[in-house]
Amino acid sequence: MITQGKAAMSEKYLYAKMTHDEVSDAVRERRVVLIPVAQLETHGPHLPIDVDVVQAQYICEEAARRAPDALLAAPPVCYGFSEHVMDFPGTMTIRPEILIEYLFDIGRSFARQGFERVALVNGHGSNRPICEIAARRITNETSAYCATLNCLSLAREVMRQVCESPVGGTAHACEVETSTYLYLFPELVERDKIEDEYAPDYRPWRCDDFREDSGPVHFMEFWSQRSRTGVEGAPSFATADKGKVILETAVAKLIEFGRWWRELEFPPRHSLIVTRA
Ligand SMILES: [Zn+2]
Repeated sequence: MITQGKAAMSEKYLYAKMTHDEVSDAVRERRVVLIPVAQLETHGPHLPIDVDVVQAQYICEEAARRAPDALLAAPPVCYGFSEHVMDFPGTMTIRPEILIEYLFDIGRSFARQGFERVALVNGHGSNRPICEIAARRITNETSAYCATLNCLSLAREVMRQVCESPVGGTAHACEVETSTYLYLFPELVERDKIEDEYAPDYRPWRCDDFREDSGPVHFMEFWSQRSRTGVEGAPSFATADKGKVILETAVAKLIEFGRWWRELEFPPRHSLIVTRA
């Protein structure tokens, strides 16, 4: 991943590389803290298990590198929730209640350091409800406001334009995720092991494709009941060029969001609760 060296930038954008005085400066500058939240799990026979980490970390670090006046990137949370994927080698899973508490404590620590705006930048679909609860708790119970977003969703429109596989082709270790990995670390993609596999089509109740709305119903069976290889989608359509366009779009959108989130003002709270004298 990106390693911020001595001469890399006059302004630091990686939280972990700051001295404590530089952290204080970042608080004074009201910079938004981007926290990549991801997962280690199977991404089929052709990709490393860290796809979700690589994507979320790259998008956060690139956004912060290009907009260091407004953003900074925290180190990623690499372990997520994937109980349903435990039939496959390499998969880790953190119990949801533990992950909520852990993300809450990270956000609360940033709030206690003085940061006012935080974002959980999620790179793993099954973390989504967990990030949503953690973000709400950070807003409700600390002095900071916390948002959460799915980093690949930022590029949904461009995925619709550049991806060529039929519906179901972009879901997991798919045309999209294989493309981003081909762009970032082509030497780690085992191209001879690429094999397309489409999951059951549950439309109109549920749709599993990055380019589509997910539908009105949600349930998740075990991954081994949906997929033989761990893949869900069409990695055979992947190219590094598609990966570049998708990641570039996500980075640009994250900068746009971060600047908006930094400036967004909320009115003061008011209470209608009656208190007895
Ligand atoms: Zn993934």
